[in-house]
Amino acid sequence: MKRAAAVFLALVMLCFISVTHSEIASDDAEALRSFLQSHYGVTIRMGDEIHDFPLEEYELRVIPEGKSVFLQTLEGNSRYTGLLRCLDDVFSVYPPEFFSRFAKKYYFDGLRFLLTDQILQDGKRIGGVQSVHSGSIDIYLAKDDAKERAIHHEIWHAMDYRIRSDDPQAFDGWALLNPEGFAYTGDFSTIRDEERKREPDDWFASEYGRIDEYEDRATIFEALMLKDEAWWSSRPNLQKKAEFLLEKADPIFGKIFAGE
Ligand SMILES: [Zn+2]
Repeated sequence: MKRAAAVFLALVMLCFISVTHSEIASDDAEALRSFLQSHYGVTIRMGDEIHDFPLEEYELRVIPEGKSVFLQTLEGNSRYTGLLRCLDDVFSVYPPEFFSRFAKKYYFDGLRFLLTDQILQDGKRIGGVQSVHSGSIDIYLAKDDAKERAIHHEIWHAMDYRIRSDDPQAFDGWALLNPEGFAYTGDFSTIRDEERKREPDDWFASEYGRIDEYEDRATIFEALMLKDEAWWSSRPNLQKKAEFLLEKADPIFGKIFAGE
């Protein structure tokens, strides 16, 4: 009896310690969220807060398959702390005021990030997806699948949308920058993971960019943010596409790179 009481007491203490620890970690997530929102001028929603913003054609999972509902609830928003830290690292390389440029009078309040646990497209896990709801341009991110590259990629999709909201013809001349006779595949299912990683020729930043012009530009923007000068200097045709893209971004977003 005495031993059972001791075990019970130990269990109660363990639960108390876990809950206290989780509350501290949740405070970290809240502190990070409020810093990111006030410092960069974005809106961030996470976990249960994004139920009102479903995405057609995608499944958003707050409880990933095989995960305990109990642990998920106990962890609360603290499970997004890693992704929030990653957002801070990524945001910090953009110029000051960059994120406030997404706002547009009578249309958008600005850029909003919706953090969830998993995003599935045709049953396959993806890092992120960009969408629009009235009042905001949205970027959905999955906590274990959205890394630095995916975040820059979705930020470009949001920029692309914002640029075309001012000038629907902004990218009309884009096709002229591709090799003669080239046609986009238009088919997301044709791209396998190994193809996505393969180094493409001079005209594309990634094999994924051959799907359509939106993915083409998003993968070029990723490369602008992540690849060094040596990588770019051997790709003159891709450079022309990058210059065109930055020229179209300039009226709204200004210079994104120092020395550009
Ligand atoms: Zn994309």
